[in-house]
Amino acid sequence: MKRVVYNFSPGPAALSKEVIQQAADEMTDWRGSGLSVMEMSHRGKEFTEILANAKNDLRALMSVPDNYKILFMQGGAIAENAIIPMNLVGRKPQQPATIDFINTGHWSVQTIEEAHKYAKVNIAASSEDRGFTYVPARDTWKLTPDAAYVHICTNETIGGVEFDYTPDVGDVPLVADMSSNILSREIDVSKHAVIYAGAQKNIGPSGVTIVIVREDMLGHALPSCPSAFDWKLVADHDSMYNTPPTYPIYIAGLTFQWLRRQGGVAAMEKINIQKAALVYDYLDSTDFYSNPVPAANRSRMNVPFRLRDESLNATFLAEAEKNDLVQLKGHSSVGGMRASIYNAMPIEGVQKLVAFMKDFEKRYG
Ligand SMILES: *Cc1c(COP(=O)(O)O)cnc(C)c1O
Repeated sequence: MKRVVYNFSPGPAALSKEVIQQAADEMTDWRGSGLSVMEMSHRGKEFTEILANAKNDLRALMSVPDNYKILFMQGGAIAENAIIPMNLVGRKPQQPATIDFINTGHWSVQTIEEAHKYAKVNIAASSEDRGFTYVPARDTWKLTPDAAYVHICTNETIGGVEFDYTPDVGDVPLVADMSSNILSREIDVSKHAVIYAGAQKNIGPSGVTIVIVREDMLGHALPSCPSAFDWKLVADHDSMYNTPPTYPIYIAGLTFQWLRRQGGVAAMEKINIQKAALVYDYLDSTDFYSNPVPAANRSRMNVPFRLRDESLNATFLAEAEKNDLVQLKGHSSVGGMRASIYNAMPIEGVQKLVAFMKDFEKRYG
């Protein structure tokens, strides 16, 4: 018997069991080709079809307008922290250009640190005053009128803080790190100039980065930008300027098809609302556990929580593990626990987690 667990890892995270099974079935002979996807030429007809299908399915899932390119890149969201300014600051005649940031936590901070190498940084709003537990209201932002772009992180994976709206920033391009909530809720792509996401939270294995970019953002890369990171070159070569991460793209494609079979993003969003409510409603009903984020900004994907008595942390984790509820330890920078409940986490897993938390409270509360 193989062990079956509910995996609450923040990333690399759980994939749909159906996707894993399909990948296993196709591992040694992809659809009569006699080849594993790992062994295929990226320019051959089989892989060309895999990439085209992945792109088309993602376009359909997110209703990506025709004037946006979908790129499959490498380096993760952290590489994009450099790739984005290298591609966008050159749109401004005056250098250094200014980039506006909304600082909502760990991942925003990391993006901001990297941007200093390429531009002047303006922190237009920050939630640092209350330990990064909320999203600053749009009417408090101090934006720069001619900024190269405005950057937001729509879901802070560590703090568990999520935008519940898409901000209007006028004519300035809006750039969004959606690494940990892409495809979990309906969003209007046309309100963004660039959306990017590392795959390993809500899409597939690590190794591929999704970049959705409006066409007018292409063609402005700094001369020093590595060719493989120049969005225009990548787009002109249909993500094959260099050898793309073929296997992660294949698994991402299987996830996109699985999402379409589930009814698409709208259907996933409904389930994600229910899953998140199960955990937060329970957290709010007891003082044995706590979560510091106000309701409107609570992440549906990552639920950090603490035990009132933190000396029970190790016991909690060990007992959870015995109950097949794994990877619940919080990030070292904030401590406590974190349940990451991405699209691939079935509602049964969340129900089992809450039942375990209740039972644990009964025994130790
Ligand atoms: C995980 C994560 C990152 C970092 O992704 P890498 O793939 O390690 O580069 C950046 N931003 C957010 C919101 C994340 O969740």
